Amino acid sequence: MTDLTSLTITEARAGLDQKEFSAVELTKAHLKRLDETRDLNAFITETPDLALSGAENADARLAAGNAGIMEGIPIGIKDLFCTRGVKTTAASKILDDFKPPYESTVTQNLWNRGAVMLGKMNMDEFAMGSANLNSAYGPVKNPWHVRGEDKDYVPGGSSGGSAAAVAAGSVMAATGTDTGGSIRQPAAFCGLVGVKPTYGLCSRWGIMAFASSLDQAGPMTKTVRDSAIMLEAMAGHDPKDATSATVEIPSYKDLLKGDVKGLKIGIPKEYQVGGLDAEIEALWQETITWFKENGAEIIDISLPHSKYALPTYYILAPAEASSNLARYDGVRYGHRADDPKDLTELYEKTRGEGFGEEVKRRIMTGTYVLSAGYYDAYFVKALKVRRLICNDFAEAYKKVDLILTPTTPTAAFAIGEEPKDPIAMYMNDILTVTANIAGLPSMSIPAGSSSKGLPLGMQLTAPAFQETQMLDAGLFLETAAGFATKTQEIRSAS
Ligand code: GLN
Repeated sequence: MTDLTSLTITEARAGLDQKEFSAVELTKAHLKRLDETRDLNAFITETPDLALSGAENADARLAAGNAGIMEGIPIGIKDLFCTRGVKTTAASKILDDFKPPYESTVTQNLWNRGAVMLGKMNMDEFAMGSANLNSAYGPVKNPWHVRGEDKDYVPGGSSGGSAAAVAAGSVMAATGTDTGGSIRQPAAFCGLVGVKPTYGLCSRWGIMAFASSLDQAGPMTKTVRDSAIMLEAMAGHDPKDATSATVEIPSYKDLLKGDVKGLKIGIPKEYQVGGLDAEIEALWQETITWFKENGAEIIDISLPHSKYALPTYYILAPAEASSNLARYDGVRYGHRADDPKDLTELYEKTRGEGFGEEVKRRIMTGTYVLSAGYYDAYFVKALKVRRLICNDFAEAYKKVDLILTPTTPTAAFAIGEEPKDPIAMYMNDILTVTANIAGLPSMSIPAGSSSKGLPLGMQLTAPAFQETQMLDAGLFLETAAGFATKTQEIRSAS
């Protein structure tokens, strides 16, 4: 039998339908792989018993002929999604004993369609970070290594545990959340497909809020087709989330053709300057050629306010975070400091002990930009720039169907060699934050490798609710790059 942990969702669903193996066998193979790769530190909580009982139920539904599109598929859930009765920490000490009494809508949707949970994935604390070095549960290691080197690389962040586990084959897919790139950047660093849907496509209910106007959940998978399946299972209108969209969710996978003939692809000139690694720039040019050779039209576009996107994001996201994180006060749930002398000290000590350095930095920045004297100068100004960035995209999409850029300015960096200055670390997000600011769907597709052999991702960004077209062009890019096939060999060899 083939190694079950190297299968894609598409292949595994076919194998389950044809009774080549059972969901229990599939889950056991992944639990074994988890055991072998535990040093990656990709999981905060492992749930093998839940996984096995979930797999037994999946086998029963498969036998009864009423299996869902994710039936029997072993997945990981970023530890930002509330899961009923299962510890959910946001990788923070402040929630180290929190067991939610309810289930997030997105995870419930996945269980309703048959998915099996193997555990809760490590991440940057409260989803703040780009390297998974900000977790109270320690850093996550990227399963990718550089031949001849004895270094561990970061998996990217904040959904680093999700990415590392999928790349290592301990889960077949995982959920992520993306506020400024946290699905796409770790997907790029780990050679995976990561999709940030249009704002409102996946319900935010039951996902711990970081920056509510930017947060979106999405799939992280080995292939584009798998992302199409998992997105269909996650998305859909939810009356419990006031910003949830009321659009119909199509069967994305059935609409995929990988055809880009006649498609208009925009290349924003503002993204072609400085900071980009030369090999990423070269890969970008190469992917442009693939599109051209297959009948797409390449059109130069301008997104003139792009240079303000990163500062705008790093005002808006901390502002919203400082408000959202005010609820962690030690009163109703989570960590509580011992023996406070009064209520103020209870808050101060609880939050001082519970939050890590980066989270504190964001709360301080956010509180500052929202304070009476600076509200207009920073927060209101950033909202105005946000509108200008949205307008840039609206103008561009009058001329093009999709926008193609790299996902990240560099490949993954080694643990210990990360930028030490927080602002230098924020530069990782320079190519991803614009889609969140404008609420647009955007995905990363593995398109090649760096000279050291580390994965590189290209990013496609579409107009709101044009996921189908984006996934279709993504399938084309994945096929042209041949990356999925190549890594499949690496995965099975290791
Ligand atoms: N790296 C970005 C940040 O630190 C994005 C995080 C995210 O998308 N959750 O804020």
